[in-house]
Amino acid sequence: MRHIAIVGSGPAGYYTAEAAQKHWGDDVRIDVFDKLPVPYGLIRTGVAPDHQSIKAVSRRYEKTALTENVRFVGNVSVGEDVSIGELEQLYDAIVIATGAPHDRQLGIEGEDLDNIIGSAAFVGWYNGHPQFADLGPKLDGANAVVIGMGNVALDVARILSKTDAEFAASDIVKHALDALMGSGVRTVTIAGRRGPHQIMMTPKELGELMHLERATPRVDPDDLPEEEEDAILEPGLRKSVTLLRGFAAIPESERGEKPIEIDFDMFASPIRFVGDCRVRGVEVERTKVEAGRAIGTGETYVIPADLVVSCIGYRSSPIPDVPFEERAGRFANDEGRILPGIYCVGWARRGPTGTIGTNRPDGQGIIEKIVEDFDSGSLGRGDKKGRAGFDELARSRNLELVTFADWKKIEEAENSAARDGAPREKFIDVESMFAALAN
Ligand code: NAP
Repeated sequence: MRHIAIVGSGPAGYYTAEAAQKHWGDDVRIDVFDKLPVPYGLIRTGVAPDHQSIKAVSRRYEKTALTENVRFVGNVSVGEDVSIGELEQLYDAIVIATGAPHDRQLGIEGEDLDNIIGSAAFVGWYNGHPQFADLGPKLDGANAVVIGMGNVALDVARILSKTDAEFAASDIVKHALDALMGSGVRTVTIAGRRGPHQIMMTPKELGELMHLERATPRVDPDDLPEEEEDAILEPGLRKSVTLLRGFAAIPESERGEKPIEIDFDMFASPIRFVGDCRVRGVEVERTKVEAGRAIGTGETYVIPADLVVSCIGYRSSPIPDVPFEERAGRFANDEGRILPGIYCVGWARRGPTGTIGTNRPDGQGIIEKIVEDFDSGSLGRGDKKGRAGFDELARSRNLELVTFADWKKIEEAENSAARDGAPREKFIDVESMFAALAN
């Protein structure tokens, strides 16, 4: 019997479990650990609450989770409740699939001013992540600035702009919905340090800005290159740039019809935040793009900002005794191999890139590596106790484990607490999750 521990129950974790199960069938036992009592990681607390079709992939993970040889072990923090060394004693292979839950910093003056928030925290807040439920972003000012030109920046701009009705079928948590409905934000500036040909936004997500009930996107036509230059772009990016051209062509007469403007400010690299205790502006330097790089021109100006959400990427969380690349913010690895018997997958391996689906081949790839290592004899000497050993350890530490059946009870309670039309009302703290279990 092979014993595998997967640390993290998000997409990378469950696709890895699925691949392991496909490969070894009944000859493997897989424990999927999560720090929270609830599974699915980024699907639950990262994917935007109004993107329910993306979240539906969790049904596929549930199929894997409900099989005999895979089990969910919630409420266990690897590195705190149990060490990697202890897991190494019990499992043949450990796969770290913890994603990248921390914000990257811009590293510029004024970054510690009030109401400058990283996207991990802001997204966690509207998605009910227990760590960020108390964030309390101030939405009283008219000007919000979102830094970055990726899909997370789009998620944040869209969430700041939607109406109550547009959130009806979403699972946005109540505290965020209430705050957003009282929001004074009227301009959301999306500031990017490079130009239209360098955006990381995908067409489907960008296109959603055309259909918002109370917001209109704006692009300065002068920021757009000559249309013929789009021919060299790969098809997805070309579509996105075509959408930007559409935003630039919206006539001024149509703009007054909706109260919120989502304004793309390109070639604008943040150099300093201004404000007293709280942020009041982002000073940016005008750039030009040469050979794909943003080069400062020396011209600066301040974009008014009562709220800043920085969407410039994420970092993984190190685990004691596991080699980590500080600069890149991910585990030090060679195609997923970290140390003999310790592997990583998903964002913990490659950094925060790609879609949910990218994790599927990633999970298959890491299982191929583990198979190679079993075949070469470097793993699996048949002396590991696997889950029975883990249960002994958990008992000796009084760890309160949460099983998949427990999660289903929590889920049922969340589903029955949903407001009309919504799929669920998530618990936003661990105590309430345990209280639902006790009932
Ligand atoms: P991303 O796509 O890498 O975009 C990050 C943005 O931040 C880039 O525009 C980057 O500009 C900018 N940036 C980085 N450092 C900066 C700095 N110092 N100053 C100014 N700007 C800076 O990352 P993301 O938006 O966080 O998304 C992460 C991943 O999740 C992506 O693969 C994304 O597609 C995926 N995602 C998908 C969806 C969806 O499919 N619906 C939703 C959300 C996220 P440069 O390019 O100039 O570096």
